[in-house]
Amino acid sequence: MSGKNGNHGRGGMRVLLFHAVVRERPRRASWRERKYWMGIDEFRAHVSLLAEGGYSVLPLDRAWQTRPSRVGNSPTLWPGQLPAPVVLTLDDGHASAGEVVWPMLREAGMAATFFVNTATLGTHGHLRWRDVRAMGASGASFASHGHRHADMTALGCRALDVELRMSKDLLEGWTGQRVEFFAAPYGRVNRRVVDAALAAGYRAVCTSVPMPARRGSAKVSRIAIHTGTSPEELCGFLDGRRFPYWARRARAACLAWPKRLLPVPQARPAAEPEAAR
Ligand SMILES: [Zn+2]
Repeated sequence: MSGKNGNHGRGGMRVLLFHAVVRERPRRASWRERKYWMGIDEFRAHVSLLAEGGYSVLPLDRAWQTRPSRVGNSPTLWPGQLPAPVVLTLDDGHASAGEVVWPMLREAGMAATFFVNTATLGTHGHLRWRDVRAMGASGASFASHGHRHADMTALGCRALDVELRMSKDLLEGWTGQRVEFFAAPYGRVNRRVVDAALAAGYRAVCTSVPMPARRGSAKVSRIAIHTGTSPEELCGFLDGRRFPYWARRARAACLAWPKRLLPVPQARPAAEPEAAR
């Protein structure tokens, strides 16, 4: 993965993962969830960093299937070095995706892919179907985060298949877009989930493994950007420095066992009235 100049996986895509972007974090957010609620100013600073750094922000499908090309003008690149494409993804279909994130990204001329749960669209705090359609019409890409927000590795074959196909069909019907990527809730992925997703017509499954992602791979690694992720750390990820990746993986390894002892939250309930429309 490392190359000259100490860069880490320089040629891979940097697929960044965000969640909610809010003015105020809800008081009832659990300690587990707190890091996923980012402030608006913090998100704006990340967008400015990408814009001012000349990073090439591409839609996921384009970055996944195209070879590196001379796009962007990052001052951090060495002469002759090809910039790694950056992809912005947001999970969970939080209402802020439509209220804050997409307007800000559109203004900056940046693409993004929103991974939503089709059962929770229209429930409190989430995007509505009409938001999804409006965002899709103005250039946002949508992809599946499952029908419910369930741990896919814990489902039987039939339930897994329903999650994958139902969310894909509903999203394709409502946006008119091809839905080709799936992001596993809680980052829980195994071989069976990947195989089922490919069989259901997806091109790849997105994970939360903090590494640059390989183009054309059936698993797309994503780097979660939390509240408190500093501009320096973000630059480190984007420019392929080793330390931020190493630090993130070391932290994940330390927390892996304690996390396994905690129960996975229940899948979120479906919204009957809105989702059905
Ligand atoms: Zn999620």
